[in-house]
Amino acid sequence: MTTNDAFQIAVLPGDGIGHEVMAPCIEILNAAAAQVGGLSFRFETHQAGAMHYRDHGVALPASALEAARKADAILLGAMGWPAIRYADGTEIAPQLDLRFEFGLFAGVRPVRTLPSMPAILADRRAAHLDFVVIRESTEGLFASRGKGVVIDDREARDTMVITRDVCEPLFDFSFKLARQRKARGGKGIVACVDKANVFTSFAFFRKIFDERASAFPDVRADHAYIDATALDMVRRPWALDVLVTENMFGDILSDLGAGLMGGMGFAPSADIGADHAVFQPCHGTAPDIAGQGKANPTAMILSGAMMLDWLGEKHGRPEALQAADLVRAAVDKAFAGGLKPYEIGGTDGTADITRRVIAALDHKTLEVA
Ligand code: ATP
Repeated sequence: MTTNDAFQIAVLPGDGIGHEVMAPCIEILNAAAAQVGGLSFRFETHQAGAMHYRDHGVALPASALEAARKADAILLGAMGWPAIRYADGTEIAPQLDLRFEFGLFAGVRPVRTLPSMPAILADRRAAHLDFVVIRESTEGLFASRGKGVVIDDREARDTMVITRDVCEPLFDFSFKLARQRKARGGKGIVACVDKANVFTSFAFFRKIFDERASAFPDVRADHAYIDATALDMVRRPWALDVLVTENMFGDILSDLGAGLMGGMGFAPSADIGADHAVFQPCHGTAPDIAGQGKANPTAMILSGAMMLDWLGEKHGRPEALQAADLVRAAVDKAFAGGLKPYEIGGTDGTADITRRVIAALDHKTLEVA
């Protein structure tokens, strides 16, 4: 890739509100690119997900997988539908298949509150949260996905897997992120969140964390148990910086984090591996509101900004980093102006939110800031 080449983006809108939040994200990414200049995208949409499985018997077609493999980045809406399941009763989840297929070990879930939101916690310090949950995304308890056993209708077993090969890059990624955040005024702390007091697998997880911590003396390495972390996310979330944890624990903590921001529609994420990355909101397909124009696209839009950050850093393209800051600044400005999505009891739907964010996109905002 040379300067000014368009980034090739594989787009997998998926099911339910996945489609509804994807269109605004693409519109805003294009608008931000036009503002900064020297940046463009070729978006190529592929069908995959539960509806595709229902209609064609395959959830993630080989053509979509190959297009995703070749793309510079992958944008994903949401996939799955409660009534459409595999024969063993589990839900269709190609987003999990992509994590395993591309080795996307680092699930990055920022918890950053937006301006003028209704208070979720009574303490005023909770109005300004900025921390990140890193969910290991290829093993842990999810290593047992599709492999669990039920023995004689008496007993069921799922096995947790923690490997050095995944943990070392996961912890290095976490320490580097804390270092970058520190350079931008962050606290410079990584906490390893586990249950090392009870399980051998987590004691091993923590041991590798401590080994890798010694390579990052400028970042503080803390330990925390999962139960205490759940408490702290409610009791003093403003004291947190980077939390790195196992897949299942991270799944749960990231929903708690979304709750602190106002709901699932505010929570972006990135699933990052050595070569590939998928950017998608933390939320699912929301069948309860699908098709009503009520979906909050903020999480998808902010996931698009995370994609710009990743592309900018990977390819040395400062204009992509600038566009990422621009999108986040526009989202902040739109919310500071009083946006109230249905999700938090307001009346702003998908189209209103998109329109207000686009109106707030102004590169001069960044020059002033
Ligand atoms: P999954 O298991 O696939 O993660 P889920 O069943 O846990 O999905 P979601 O689909 O994320 O849950 O929905 C949880 C709740 O959050 C629902 O009430 C849904 O309407 C709401 N929700 C999720 N995403 C959004 C959004 N973008 N805008 C508004 N509400 C949302």
